[in-house]
Amino acid sequence: MRPEPLVESRQLGRLRIHAIQAGGQKLDGGAMFGVVPKTLWERRIPADDRNRIQLGMRCLLIEHDIGPVLIDTGAGNKENDKFYDIYGIENRGTTGPTALEDGLAQLGVRPADVVMVISSHLHFDHAGGNTTKREDGSIAPTFPNARYVMQRGEYEWASHTNERTAASYFPPNFEPLRASGQMELIDGDREIIAGVQSIKTPGHTPHHQGLLIESEGERAFYLADLAPTAAHLPLPWIMGYDVEPLVTLETKRRILARAEAEDWLVIFEHDATTAWSKITNDGKAYALRG
Ligand SMILES: [Zn+2]
Repeated sequence: MRPEPLVESRQLGRLRIHAIQAGGQKLDGGAMFGVVPKTLWERRIPADDRNRIQLGMRCLLIEHDIGPVLIDTGAGNKENDKFYDIYGIENRGTTGPTALEDGLAQLGVRPADVVMVISSHLHFDHAGGNTTKREDGSIAPTFPNARYVMQRGEYEWASHTNERTAASYFPPNFEPLRASGQMELIDGDREIIAGVQSIKTPGHTPHHQGLLIESEGERAFYLADLAPTAAHLPLPWIMGYDVEPLVTLETKRRILARAEAEDWLVIFEHDATTAWSKITNDGKAYALRG
């Protein structure tokens, strides 16, 4: 299933932002919820006959003064059918290579128009669409005129894998950007462009970053894999994939407290249905604010 809708749009201050559902993905429910028992998590997201849960791969397009700015790029088109089947990825496009290009086209944006791509981290389901396999088999940056911004530490982590991390990092998702001179490495928290700030959110990976978008006092935060779905809002609901789960716990405690106190709109990358929401804490756990 390719989750719908393809595009959801809203205003944030004077900025227009668009959530583009760049395809569906299915991952093992147990791995997605770490130490949480199945009897609890399957009430939130049911499992299929292979114990997988339906997820999305939501990217964010910001209509910025400098031009279209994209956060994360989905799974791309470079892997083989067996790979896409294992991960339940359904992202084939109708007008372009993937659903991401379909979403951009719906918004009147061509890949050549995108001026900046920001990667939360370099796992294949977040950075796979950074590059595209052309019909002749060659691999090229999907966005020929974009600067690709990522954390230096994440790039180094992705370039030096071990037995636990190697299954998520594929050099064709990022090395062509270095070769083309489009890769821009940043260190730690900083304002990348006016109103778009990177905040390091370690745990899922040591240099994972979230993006805080601010306009006229309104704020939105792209959580990426800090809380991939709305079901991951309770602090201990942490993915088994995280390399430092106790670091994730402290990052969540800090970020979600700010999100509630400062009335942030939080954006869920992997949620199949909920693109964004404000959050609340009922004294026991964080939850969507109705
Ligand atoms: Zn990830």
